[in-house]
Amino acid sequence: MFPLTEENKHVAQLLLSTGTCPRCIFRFCGVDFHAPYKLPYKELLNELQKFLETEKDELILEVMNPPPKKIRLQELEDSIDNLSQNGEGRISLSQDGSIASKNSNLNVCNVCLGILQEFCEKDFVKKVCQKVEASGFEFTSLVFSVSFPPQLSVRESVFTRMAVMKALNKIKEEDFLKQFPCPPNSPKAVCTVLEIECAHGAVFVAGRYNKYSRNLPQTPWIIDGERKLESSVEELISDHLLAVFKAESFNFSSSGREDVDVRTLGNGRPFAIELVNPHRVHFTSQEIKELQQKINNSSNKIQVRDLQLVTREAIGHMKEGEEEKTKTYSALIWTDKAIQKKDIEFLNDIKDLKIDQKTPLRVLHRRPLAVRARVIHSMETQYVDEHHFRLRLKTQAGTYIKEFVHGDFGRTKPNIGSLMNVTADILELDVESVDVDWPPALDD
Ligand SMILES: [Zn+2]
Repeated sequence: MFPLTEENKHVAQLLLSTGTCPRCIFRFCGVDFHAPYKLPYKELLNELQKFLETEKDELILEVMNPPPKKIRLQELEDSIDNLSQNGEGRISLSQDGSIASKNSNLNVCNVCLGILQEFCEKDFVKKVCQKVEASGFEFTSLVFSVSFPPQLSVRESVFTRMAVMKALNKIKEEDFLKQFPCPPNSPKAVCTVLEIECAHGAVFVAGRYNKYSRNLPQTPWIIDGERKLESSVEELISDHLLAVFKAESFNFSSSGREDVDVRTLGNGRPFAIELVNPHRVHFTSQEIKELQQKINNSSNKIQVRDLQLVTREAIGHMKEGEEEKTKTYSALIWTDKAIQKKDIEFLNDIKDLKIDQKTPLRVLHRRPLAVRARVIHSMETQYVDEHHFRLRLKTQAGTYIKEFVHGDFGRTKPNIGSLMNVTADILELDVESVDVDWPPALDD
């Protein structure tokens, strides 16, 4: 059934004869179900003309501009300037570019600039489909979004009611009509499609990594544009993911980080990687396992476990309560004075030692100066020789371990040196565990 009613007739007739397309006429008449908009343009125009036929003669008198003038294609270029300058008449072109006939008029709509004309037809939809298919994305649902030419907003008047009223009060009627013919003139040419772009929403992969090298930063180490070390944990993992997911770029995040010379052992450190604009997104758990294997085979500096696809929301678990979590470390410590086993045993009895840490000198260039209270939950010593011992520490996350050992020129109080009354330094540090229960462990 034709969606317009008798009371729409007057408005529809006025709009049609001033160059508004049938779909825009439906919009202005408040047609809010989509079936009629789907009809082919020619059919729509025929139906509309048939609907308006009865009162056409009577209504046409009220129309400000003369009805559409049809010209031959050859005349088009010569006439186009004249026509548009005085705003009278309209160019009618049939869609296939042949000479216009009565029922295949295509005036470029003065409201939508043609967007609801040929870009709603099957041919254009086909073109978009072909482009989507050719892009090679894997997907299950699709969002189609259109970026309109900015001219449209002026024609549809997106200004606020108050702003328009204020402006109208300031301008004389005849000045306004000179600048803004109402309804607006039809444009000279239909607007064109600049580009059809396809993109896929990001997907997220998480896991845990071990780092076995004391010469590998977590993220690319670049100072003043110069690369200091050739690789990083982030790159050793992400390069494989980028290739397999055919993604454009990635963002790496993790639960805390370790220094370049610190190993991460035990169950590893949780990490998550956002893959931006991936072309491949459907993987079986077997394929993800194989991907993990591929990463692990490619380097002996890192190993990855529990690799899995996760949601964006789940990544929050990794950062949640990061400060409250505990971490376990193992440090190799040197002392200037000769020590015996009994000199370090007292450390085993210290529980929940509160320390104050001023921002370490080595990170002062990127962290604000502050004093942070931290807790060393427990320590366990292992005597090595007169100048060396191993210390296993369980601490609050965020504790600077190196500074707790050597004291950072008195900026961390107390510290191992002050507790033992020696000068102490740290030779090696390993992260033994990061107590974050995410991502879930997978059985191998
Ligand atoms: Zn339109």
